[in-house]
Amino acid sequence: MNRGKVLIEDYPIVARLSDFKAAAGGPEGFRRTSHFTVDLPDGRSVRVDLVDRSTNLGLKMRLLACPMCSTAVRNLRWAPIDSLPVETPGLVCGRCLRRLGGRYAAQDRRRRSRGMSPAIPLGESRDALPGIDAQLEKAIEDLAAALEEASASSS
Ligand SMILES: [Zn+2]
Repeated sequence: MNRGKVLIEDYPIVARLSDFKAAAGGPEGFRRTSHFTVDLPDGRSVRVDLVDRSTNLGLKMRLLACPMCSTAVRNLRWAPIDSLPVETPGLVCGRCLRRLGGRYAAQDRRRRSRGMSPAIPLGESRDALPGIDAQLEKAIEDLAAALEEASASSS
């Protein structure tokens, strides 16, 4: 894998909060569970702890603790052992990837086209759609992180 440029899309989401809830047999079982073990495609097994967070609305939320940075997140991405500038536990969050220089492909495309042509060429318009998904996903992640920081500082 290319070490020079980290594209976040290259790191598939392999652990989702909803999958963990389903694996625990629903909300009741999920509340009683403290951690899960995720088997990765490369053969490694990674322990993912669950952490409780309260939102500004007073709601309690159980989220996944990133095995690398402990940030509470909804999704974790698979990072093969030699795919990043530093050794990873195998599962990382979007914040870890951004800290290691990760960018969404859509962000790169935007930067490249700045000052050249404001219009997306017809042939690229289909490619632009996944970029929009990535931007939405990033916005949701940023919002979740902001909520996280807000609730952490108020408690
Ligand atoms: Zn992380």
